[in-house]
Amino acid sequence: MKIGFVGLGHMGAPMALNLLKAGHTVAVFDLSASAMQTLAEAGAQKAASAKAAASGAECVITMLPAAAHVRSVLTAEDGVLAGIAKGVTIIDSSTIDPASVKEFAKLAAAQGNAFVDAPVSGGTGGAAAGTLTFMVGGSAEHYESVKPVLSGMGKNIVHCGETGTGQVAKICNNLVLGVTMAGVAEAMALGEALGIDPKVLGGIMNTSTGRCWSSDTYNPYPGVIETAPSSRGYTGGFGTDLMLKDLGLATDAAKGVHQPAYMGALAQQLYQAMSSHGDGKLDFSAIIKLYRGEKG
Ligand code: NAD
Repeated sequence: MKIGFVGLGHMGAPMALNLLKAGHTVAVFDLSASAMQTLAEAGAQKAASAKAAASGAECVITMLPAAAHVRSVLTAEDGVLAGIAKGVTIIDSSTIDPASVKEFAKLAAAQGNAFVDAPVSGGTGGAAAGTLTFMVGGSAEHYESVKPVLSGMGKNIVHCGETGTGQVAKICNNLVLGVTMAGVAEAMALGEALGIDPKVLGGIMNTSTGRCWSSDTYNPYPGVIETAPSSRGYTGGFGTDLMLKDLGLATDAAKGVHQPAYMGALAQQLYQAMSSHGDGKLDFSAIIKLYRGEKG
């Protein structure tokens, strides 16, 4: 297929590379010239704008930081909607709020284009390996039409329901993740203060009812899980500021439907405190520093 790809950051660049490897023709656009150059060296066509990347494409993918970027990439004079042919589907894999997705879907529909939300989980490792999970929001027909393209970048392509539900799945999952990490960090620090060996405590949790991804894969206490970011100075994982962004999306969405988000709101404040201490770039499991009396 001829694919237009906008947003070649930590996630977008490896995703676009995998589309090239899968045999697609990819026209790329990013504000960063060096990001475009890297993709061009791998066989992509450099486009002069998002509009140019969308022109002649049979599918357009966006992978951008937040809703404001997606809005501008879609609606600017030299944006996607100005260049895309009627009937071509836009897939947005950025993590944004479900309300914006619905707004963008309306804008696209007004000129005969489908807009499908397909946020991802799996991080930069999953993006590079082509093993991402895509949470797809759109009609069954649109899901079937985007599945072959997404399969070039991911392993699990899940239809979540109508437009916007991909983002609902993403932010609800990350709400759980943010809260469980805070809970495991709190318990590990308490255990340390009360004198138990952290490795013993971590092992007990993982064969008991406290077990979760934050305890068995990403334990925040250094040295408990050798492959976790906590065992390498909280580097190279899922950044605190990204978790903060996702919890903000969850609590805002909760406000929009008058739904309480007690734990999410508290977790959001904890990650915000970390960020204000200068730890925003560290893996989010560094939240344990708040409990162990360490600051950034
Ligand atoms: P990033 O900041 O590394 O990349 C964003 C890219 O978009 C940059 O290259 C930037 O130059 C480009 N960009 C911004 N505005 C643009 C514009 N107007 N036109 C063209 N290009 C523009 O972000 P990322 O880590 O790749 O994340 C992208 C999205 O994926 C975010 O919504 C994030 O929440 C989500 N996500 C990230 C991860 C992760 O581990 N990094 C995991 C899951 C989901």
